Amino acid sequence: MEKDRTVTEEYISLVEKIEAYLPDFDEDLFRKAYEFAYDSHKGQKRDNEEDYFVHPYAVTEILALLKLDETTLIAGLLHDTLEDTNVTYEDIESAFGKEVANIVEGVTKLEKVDSLSRLDRIELQASYIRKMFFAMAKDLRVILVKLADRLHNMRTIEHRTSPESRARTARETLDIYAPLAHRLGMFSMKAELEDLAFKELYPRAYQEMKEKVRIKLRERQKNIEYYGGELERELKRHSIDAQVYGRVKHFYSIYMKMKRKHKEFDEIYDLIALRVIVEDVNACYSVLGIVHSIWKPIAGRFKDYIAIPKSNGYRALHTTVVTDKGERLEIQIRSKEMHQEAEFGLAAHWAYKSNISPEKELKWLKQIVDWQKEYLAGKDYLGGLKKELELDEVFVFTPRGELKHLPKGSTIIDFAYAIHTDVGNYCIGGKVNGKLVPLNRKLQDGDVVEIIVDRKSKGPSKDWLSIAYSPRTRSKIKRFFREKEKEEFIKDGRDILRRELKQYHLTFKILESNEDIKKLLNNDGIDGIDDLCSRIGRGTYPVNRIINALTKKEEEQQVVERPIEHKEEKGDIIVDGLKGIAISIAKCCYPVPGDEIVGIVTKTKGISVHRKGCVNTRHVPKDKFVNVRWSNAGVSRYTARLHIEMKNKGDALAGVVNRLNERKIPIIGMNMKPTPLGSISVSIDISVKDSRELKDAIQGIKKDENVLDINRIRRG
Ligand code: MN
Repeated sequence: MEKDRTVTEEYISLVEKIEAYLPDFDEDLFRKAYEFAYDSHKGQKRDNEEDYFVHPYAVTEILALLKLDETTLIAGLLHDTLEDTNVTYEDIESAFGKEVANIVEGVTKLEKVDSLSRLDRIELQASYIRKMFFAMAKDLRVILVKLADRLHNMRTIEHRTSPESRARTARETLDIYAPLAHRLGMFSMKAELEDLAFKELYPRAYQEMKEKVRIKLRERQKNIEYYGGELERELKRHSIDAQVYGRVKHFYSIYMKMKRKHKEFDEIYDLIALRVIVEDVNACYSVLGIVHSIWKPIAGRFKDYIAIPKSNGYRALHTTVVTDKGERLEIQIRSKEMHQEAEFGLAAHWAYKSNISPEKELKWLKQIVDWQKEYLAGKDYLGGLKKELELDEVFVFTPRGELKHLPKGSTIIDFAYAIHTDVGNYCIGGKVNGKLVPLNRKLQDGDVVEIIVDRKSKGPSKDWLSIAYSPRTRSKIKRFFREKEKEEFIKDGRDILRRELKQYHLTFKILESNEDIKKLLNNDGIDGIDDLCSRIGRGTYPVNRIINALTKKEEEQQVVERPIEHKEEKGDIIVDGLKGIAISIAKCCYPVPGDEIVGIVTKTKGISVHRKGCVNTRHVPKDKFVNVRWSNAGVSRYTARLHIEMKNKGDALAGVVNRLNERKIPIIGMNMKPTPLGSISVSIDISVKDSRELKDAIQGIKKDENVLDINRIRRG
């Protein structure tokens, strides 16, 4: 009975689809996943009041139509359980294994996005996509599930209630997911995603296009049949087994072409497009010969993507011919296998050659993963990624005849950096097809490009950033400038340090051999003398700390005192019923005006003032307590200690220091050390007027993007 509850017609129809291509799949496991997903989403509804399970079901169905393996199908069923239900990674792992759990975790969003401001959302979207790319680099099936998920969400987008969320999803689909599908060679997926997003974002243009194409097709139908028939007969005469189809471009691609070339619909859609599908590669070339013998080829329009496949693996022969009636025919010739790959791309690799990881895809994916490590800011990241995913590319050659794929629009500089970062950095000019050309020259298909390098060159100039086309090139150029800047900071820091040391009659050399310094640097998370100088040069590390360590002046080993206008007068505290008594501020909990405080009568220091609840006051007998309160005089400044956890980045501390400087809050000491998690833990003593100023400082620091956590020292 229990087992039957999910064995519905839907279940049976899905299993039949799977069995058709995976005859010996483990149906028990699949059913377990089906029930697991069904139960987890029970009670949840989609925006149109349907049961939520409709969605994971549909996603799995799409994956089954792509003929994917069982792991992917199960991940499809479970893909929203981590995000939307109480299911945990461990639950999935223990029931369905690590692979499934990792795929599901890879498509799971980190946080809910809806209630955020626009900028925060861009940042979050970027971090989600970045995370997904990393997961994808480990297992490409992550992206297959994500694309199926997006496809179903786009197919049902009219059910969504929020217009903003619809527009956002459609935009993201055009910017990221459709290009990604294209990159993976999944043409059907790409075309459908684009048309669905097009329909959502530009409903009028979409309807117009649809109507125009419909009319055009009717006009052209006769011609398509006529020329198709002629070609078929000719092929038969040569005993070539082939299928000939008329071909329709999807709406969005026509629209984009019109916009890009500033042309009217009729100028773009003037071609009759035929597709010929044959048994094998040899037959492709035979068909090409026959096509060119019946009709006259147009020079420059023949492309052999079999000899030189596109970087997404696309293979086919393309040619355009003119018929005896003066009409132009665009013809694509493919083998059956190429056709499968062209339609399903990466998914076809999975379906037909299981366990082969398609190297080409992995190569560009790895490049994207490498490249995205350079990008931190959200907006930049998405724009860059968008460009990176564009597939329009040029094929060019090195002087040795090596083929390079580059994005269309690439210049000599992009080429130089694509060869090697050093070739880029030392590039002083280039030759195309033997002739010297300016650096901003755009490369064309078939160009032979030679880069002229000069080892004495000072490196790239800033205007290269606008000449370079690809974001990857630009990030390499930026890195060059960053490193150069770092060298300058090192030099500055070295000068400062040298000057200071001289005052104590010490030489720079001592730093390298001194054990105390070694310990200090290690403790502060500083990676050698260069790193130290660079920080001193940037002003993020107090040079006194080094001097003190060498001269052993430091009393309290952790805190660096800086001479500032920090006077503790305790004149702000009123002790009930007592006058002229010594008052000291406790060093365990650092109270500041505005905090609730208590006074403790001590034997030697008069009255010691603590924050209320400080652990050091808990075991003090009641009769030692006296009432104390802040007066409104506000004449003194008080020390407060902050604990900050920040990213391990060169400029992280500088950011925090800046935020304090902006508020004119003096720093009176600090101590830092690396945490086991790879971040940096800093304790900073600052001097504040009252708890308001302190709170404002904490809020300010909290906003810094490199700050992971900030706390005031606990009470005791
Ligand atoms: Mn989903």
